[in-house]
Amino acid sequence: MNSPRHVKLGSGMVPVLLILTIASVAQAPAPEPVTDQETELGQAVYKQLRGKGEIIESSPLYDTLKPIADAIAREAQPRYPHPFKFFLVHETQPNAFATPGGNVYVVDSLLYFVKNTEQLAGTLCHEVSHTIHRDGVALMEKEQKIERREVAAAILLGPTRAHIIAIALIGKLHSLGYSRDAESKADVTGSDICAAAGYNPWGLTWLFEDFQNADMGHVPQLLSDHPANGTRIQTLKKHFQDNPSTFSRFNRDPKSATPFSVPKDAPEVFLHADTKGGN
Ligand SMILES: [Zn+2]
Repeated sequence: MNSPRHVKLGSGMVPVLLILTIASVAQAPAPEPVTDQETELGQAVYKQLRGKGEIIESSPLYDTLKPIADAIAREAQPRYPHPFKFFLVHETQPNAFATPGGNVYVVDSLLYFVKNTEQLAGTLCHEVSHTIHRDGVALMEKEQKIERREVAAAILLGPTRAHIIAIALIGKLHSLGYSRDAESKADVTGSDICAAAGYNPWGLTWLFEDFQNADMGHVPQLLSDHPANGTRIQTLKKHFQDNPSTFSRFNRDPKSATPFSVPKDAPEVFLHADTKGGN
């Protein structure tokens, strides 16, 4: 296949273009070091999860997750410099979490917990928004100020800094480490991304509302901060009202939702009734 550049090139133009190309390469700025740190941190978390055997390499559940994740990644990607990648992980609590570097982890049992596609999409949109906002990086920077001495001591013992921080980050992501303000901001950006991807952004509010009546043992940790859920719903509703050109086309009635179910050949995953709470 000929690229347009090859088609248009006359032989006399080649030396000029060559010189321009060399000149622009020589002046190209070095890649931003900040983004490398994010990738390193994300990789360290991935290795940690893989080492614990939590990463699910293959499952029929990926067939269900992939089209939704792909549609969301298409809208989210222009807002973040590293590729979004989605992994299923096996943990007891239905949950989802995202790390710097673009990895998004979806606990398998979450796919059994959600009632409709919009609720799952809303959760994924929320998680990619934490990454876009660099909430994980901010969390770790805050954490490092407190634990600088412990981290420094741990580095002397051998493991890399990224590895140590990764362990801390996993703990934080499992214990509602983000502020309520960061959560609300991720809800709002997430609703923009979901709307752009064609998923009804009311899905996240339906999820909150379901939790308010849910058996506490089944409430995913990512949304188990009940007192804040009312505020988060209000913030989202205001955002929808303030931006009618984006949101007025979506039906707020959960009866309009797209029913969601896992594939018939998916492995059985049991939701644990004995919730352990945050760590
Ligand atoms: Zn969150």
